[in-house]
Amino acid sequence: MLQVNAHRSGRHFLQIPGPTNVPDRVLRAIDHPTIDHRGPEFGVLGHQILEGMKKVFKTDSHVVIYPASGTGAWEAALVNTLSEGDLVLMAETGHFATLWKDMAEKLSLRVEFLPGDWRRPADPAAVEARLKNDTQHEIKAVCIVHNETATGVASNIKAVRDAIDRAGHPALYMVDTISSLASIDYRHDEWGVDVTVSGSQKGLMLPPGLSFNAVSAKALAAGEKNNLHRSYWDWQAMIDINGTGYFPYTPATNLLYGLHEALDMLFAEGLDEVFARHKRFAEATRRAVRAWGLEILCADPESYSDSLTAVMMPEGHGADAFRKIVLEHFNLSLGSGLTKLKDRVFRIGHLGDLNDLTLCATLSGIEMGLSLAKVPHQQGGVRAALDYLTETSTVMSRPLEEKTAW
Ligand code: PLP
Repeated sequence: MLQVNAHRSGRHFLQIPGPTNVPDRVLRAIDHPTIDHRGPEFGVLGHQILEGMKKVFKTDSHVVIYPASGTGAWEAALVNTLSEGDLVLMAETGHFATLWKDMAEKLSLRVEFLPGDWRRPADPAAVEARLKNDTQHEIKAVCIVHNETATGVASNIKAVRDAIDRAGHPALYMVDTISSLASIDYRHDEWGVDVTVSGSQKGLMLPPGLSFNAVSAKALAAGEKNNLHRSYWDWQAMIDINGTGYFPYTPATNLLYGLHEALDMLFAEGLDEVFARHKRFAEATRRAVRAWGLEILCADPESYSDSLTAVMMPEGHGADAFRKIVLEHFNLSLGSGLTKLKDRVFRIGHLGDLNDLTLCATLSGIEMGLSLAKVPHQQGGVRAALDYLTETSTVMSRPLEEKTAW
């Protein structure tokens, strides 16, 4: 194990918005001998996790699993469906939407980027207006990041679907759920999404290294006649063999053990309960931030993210110096500001495997850190969060017989 510094007692608090804390159960599941990925046991595992992931995406369609970070699944979504020079409509919600746009351009797609100020969600009215204008149906795909991990702003995926429908436009609809899946309600089929992109290291509580595409029949059909080159990312090669529980090349076997365990945990808690837990932690966090007298980056309360909160630093105070103090004094990692927001915000991850006391400890570390870093603020943020958590507290576990079926 890499020892960066002297021994620090207790557990590290990894409260960045992903990778998130990997639960002990998942770590133990990963810590098993790697099996033959073409042997009889593997097929059972492969089949179960592919079925389990369909439940998480809420789809009856195909789910493809790559041994790759989320960026790989972004690329897979584009190269399996689009052709050179195709026009794609994207919304500038923040750093990750911008990276996806840059990738699309590198892949020789043309991108129209609906401008945004990184404090608000994708605007369904702007999507509708642009699509209505596109009478020749030049736009082949609309790509939206559900939850902007850089800003803590969640876009309304159903509202954008409705906007596409009102415009009567045939574009494919692609959604990045890398920091929302298994934390914030998401419905691939019901919301008419064609390709959903996701990753293992956030709501799924796994280490980085797996990524996913949920794929509609319309997206698969688009892949039969598009001309972007692909080989490793080809959905069809995966889907052809996935039906038997196997993969066309060597899968990340031990991460798949972990995924099986994580799915078991999510279904035991219940997906709706998981979403409610994240919503409650997000509200407690915002109450703390407001009580400190600090500003939440998300400027639209309807769009607050349930998985993270980005907090603006007061003028003249750098977020990175503050985060350094929090790490060195309390062994607590907070997320940094990315690109445009560098040093201007810190991000509190409240997603994945955490409970009331994990959140309270995180907020306590922040409140103490604000004092140590001499950041102007009021005391009482932790108190405000404690009050809310107490008022809304319920018995944590539910009877096992209520567990969601696999
Ligand atoms: N999209 C979003 C919303 C993300 O949060 C991230 C990473 O944090 C990515 C895409 C890129 O994924 P990765 O870093 O796993 O390649």
